[in-house]
Amino acid sequence: MTAGALTISTVLWIVGRIGMDEPRFSPWLGPGMLLSIWAITLMAVTLLATARSRMIEPMFGGLDRAVRLHRRLGPAAITLVVLHVLMYLPPMLADGMSLGDILVPFWSPQALTFDSSVLWALLIWTGFAYVRGLPYEGWLSLHGLLGPIFLGAGAHSLFVGSTLAAFEPLRFWMWFLLFVGTAAWAYRVLLYRWAAPRYRYRVEAVDRRSHDTIDLVMRPQDRRMIYEPGTFVFVRRPGGKAEYHPFSISSSPAERNLRVSVRLVGDFTRALANAQTGEPVEVFGPFGSFTPHRYAHHRRLICIGAGIGITPFLGMLRFEMTNDDFRRIWLWYIVRDGDNAPYDAEIRDLVLRADSWVDYELWMTAQRGRPTAADIMAAAAPFDDFGIMLCGRPEFVGDLVRQFLAAGVPRERLIWEDFHFH
Ligand SMILES: Cc1cc2nc3c(=O)[nH]c(=O)nc-3n(C[C@H](O)[C@H](O)[C@H](O)COP(=O)(O)OP(=O)(O)OC[C@H]3O[C@@H](n4cnc5c(N)ncnc54)[C@H](O)[C@@H]3O)c2cc1C
Repeated sequence: MTAGALTISTVLWIVGRIGMDEPRFSPWLGPGMLLSIWAITLMAVTLLATARSRMIEPMFGGLDRAVRLHRRLGPAAITLVVLHVLMYLPPMLADGMSLGDILVPFWSPQALTFDSSVLWALLIWTGFAYVRGLPYEGWLSLHGLLGPIFLGAGAHSLFVGSTLAAFEPLRFWMWFLLFVGTAAWAYRVLLYRWAAPRYRYRVEAVDRRSHDTIDLVMRPQDRRMIYEPGTFVFVRRPGGKAEYHPFSISSSPAERNLRVSVRLVGDFTRALANAQTGEPVEVFGPFGSFTPHRYAHHRRLICIGAGIGITPFLGMLRFEMTNDDFRRIWLWYIVRDGDNAPYDAEIRDLVLRADSWVDYELWMTAQRGRPTAADIMAAAAPFDDFGIMLCGRPEFVGDLVRQFLAAGVPRERLIWEDFHFH
């Protein structure tokens, strides 16, 4: 998707340039303009990727992947904007403008006030967004401001760019990108609660599984959500702050009640532990591509869940009770020690009753250290027709993914979720 959008932008810009009746090609302005077109393209794709729409997420291979992609595209777009400005500076200064005119809003009657304001808005936004220690909700609210900045940047390109002015198809494409990015932003930031796939549930039970883990069991009030095992939902408690927190589903789609298993780490999750039976809960989703059914061609599955990262595998195992799609599965539950393995007993019970053949191992890092890719590959040998699903904290998952890749495992066989949306 990203490569396709960038290709269209580039081809249209080249064709537009060729058609322009210009005495000479400026090595600064021409490429500088292309950089801004790329920046708008990447911003539009980024906004689309984070729209949290069920219709759009398949274009990115699932919302979890889309969010991972946006982490790379966002900084790339900002870098392109800065480069674009730097490339425009020499010819504009040569034309007699001062730095103040170009970069400082209201500097003089000729100052490029609108354009420099958009630039400053983006730079200040970037400063806040990448500042360490910003609470997640503050960071998320900050992302809500990206829409107006994107619109400002788009307006700047459309009304200033000479190639855009001269070449109708490129202008149309830019309008299209502006529309897509703005619509995605409006859906996510302004209309989500009403327009997104929302299901009304009630708290059926809050089951304490360990000192820091609970199961939130919810009963549908009307429509029941249909989902694939391994997917996740956003949970919102009406009446409280408008927070949407993602949790993997740890129940089976065959069950009437919906369950999420939650580690108590901060305000929202700790408050969830005190939710009252009968309390309304809104559930948005399901989202994500972390589901074995999308990888039906892998008949042998290696599943590694670290800590609370075991939750999607609980849902998958529970589904195994009713699923006759036989697979060979190896499952590792990686925990610090026995006191931090609240789902061990449940998994052992499920493994006994599962339709597929499951080899299960509880791996305690306090005794054995972290498992390596080599440990896993040796245990599941011969290592041929398989897919590897990993879930847990970003550092753990990232480290194991790197090890598998270094050991020669093809990237397309690795499927991971890292419970991280930053
Ligand atoms: C796809 C996905 C699936 C997840 N599944 C589970 C699960 O099954 N069980 C579980 O216990 N946890 C899961 N998490 C993590 C869970 O969403 C956070 O632990 C929870 O939102 C923390 O909120 P808090 O206010 O209690 O903690 P805080 O102290 O506010 O946040 C702790 C960390 O959680 C993350 N976080 C906080 N708020 C949000 C939010 N609204 N959206 C996204 N991330 C946020 C941030 O990284 C933050 O640094 C999942 C996360 C993702 C992205």
